[in-house]
Amino acid sequence: MHKMLSSLMTTALATSLALGLPAHAASSAAHAPAVQEAPLRAHLAFLSSDVLEGRGTGQRGADLTVAYLETQALAAGLKPANGNSFRQAVAIAGVMPQPQASSLGIEAGGAAQPLAYGKDWVWGPGDAKPVHALDAELVFVGYGISAPEEGAWDDYKGLDCTGKILVMMVNDPMPTEAEPHRFNGKGLSYYGRWTYKFEEAARRGAAGVLLIHTDASASYGWSVIQNSWLAERFQLAQGAPGTGMQGWIADGAARALFKAVGQDLDALRAAAELKTFKPVALGARMKGEMKAAVRSVEQFNVAGIVPGTDPALKDELVIYSAHWDHLGKQGSSGDTIYNGAVDNASGSAALLAMAQAAVRAPAKRSQMFLWVAAEEQGLLGSAAYGSSPLWPANKTAADLNLDSMNFIGLTKDIGTRGSERTELGAMAAATAKAMGLRVEPPKPDLSGGYFRSDHFSFAKEGIPAFSVERGNDWVADVENSKANAKAYAARYHQVTDEYDPSWNLAGMVQQAQFTLNLGRMIADAPKMPAWKTGDPFGQLRTAAAK
Ligand SMILES: [Zn+2]
Repeated sequence: MHKMLSSLMTTALATSLALGLPAHAASSAAHAPAVQEAPLRAHLAFLSSDVLEGRGTGQRGADLTVAYLETQALAAGLKPANGNSFRQAVAIAGVMPQPQASSLGIEAGGAAQPLAYGKDWVWGPGDAKPVHALDAELVFVGYGISAPEEGAWDDYKGLDCTGKILVMMVNDPMPTEAEPHRFNGKGLSYYGRWTYKFEEAARRGAAGVLLIHTDASASYGWSVIQNSWLAERFQLAQGAPGTGMQGWIADGAARALFKAVGQDLDALRAAAELKTFKPVALGARMKGEMKAAVRSVEQFNVAGIVPGTDPALKDELVIYSAHWDHLGKQGSSGDTIYNGAVDNASGSAALLAMAQAAVRAPAKRSQMFLWVAAEEQGLLGSAAYGSSPLWPANKTAADLNLDSMNFIGLTKDIGTRGSERTELGAMAAATAKAMGLRVEPPKPDLSGGYFRSDHFSFAKEGIPAFSVERGNDWVADVENSKANAKAYAARYHQVTDEYDPSWNLAGMVQQAQFTLNLGRMIADAPKMPAWKTGDPFGQLRTAAAK
């Protein structure tokens, strides 16, 4: 399989030269050290073995995983990225709301609203504090969006949010005939994600946020919210604080609440589609004590460096990232270990194999191999890196992330979704061409996939970033490969996401090689890649440079 890959690359290289592609594209691909299959397979087999107990956040398997990664980073020849340590501490709080011990409620129209925790609403502390005493006014703020680059869209209109509970809709304003492209058209913009809503409310000093759930606006049912809020939830203990109270209210309960104060939720929703929308005080109050059990969990990101060789460019950095955590050990009978072989022992193993290759021929810029913690708990490790980076964000050229890699076989294409937001798009296309791979034109991102993987924590800091995803166009054994890929959906986040020694890893090597080749091109390019004009995350980059 290796021969096949390299002959594909040689042919592609000849073709790309004949096509007159940028010289740096072809030469980078030619000079990137080869990623070896044997170490990739060995690391994958070990990281996904029962010995590591599913690499669960806060569990013993996590400690073993971190110890393994730092040992292997050292063995591969990486330099510690945090002084003389490969570790970066990530302070996490485990939060379990205690509705029975709490007295939180809503008073509307002179009466207490009948709200059952779990069925009608869920809530918890966004700031990881165990007790909150609330007596706060409820204000409906539409979508709760303030977006300067969307024609100065502002749902707040100067509202003083201090001490208030902001009731808002998830998702973002729908495209109209006159403005088909507003808020990313049919795709979801970041302003539509619930994470943005909580962040914006915290920036404005609100006491809390209550998100109104509908299946359509959230793109998932109420049961998804229940599952996540009836269990212990992990959040960053510092660095990214939320409002004191965060929660969701089910559509039916929200309708009843609005009716009780003489408001028509449908009419308010329609008004919120317009730029002229103004916040509406509901004349209702959230009152009582909100309690939660809170414990501290210390986890670690692991990071190692291949220093750059160019005196001027070595202060700049390319990051390769992958999350090492998975769902750990759960339950007490049957198979209790969520091995997470594909998700994401594969990416973690690939990063080790790529590091081993990269140290053999350093690039002009420095390169960081970064294994992040607690992705499955909400991108926590990468967010912690984003808020306290080990390398200045404005000197970080890009982040290329790997999560759940190709365990099936070689493909003729490669996934570069999200790269089109920056100059990485053109570089990814050139890298693919040089390897004889096709890239698919980007499709509208309906459910906000760009905001749900670790690369996004870097984009939020203004760093060009995307996840390199596996291709879908199989080179050989097409029908079986398709069936194999489809069957993985049933193993996703289940105990059956296990390693099988019979896996053909040529596709995983190919995906890792593509990522390293692209990283190499970025690391050797004359300039760091830029965002496309008008991208909200690019404006963060520009602001940081000033
Ligand atoms: Zn994952």
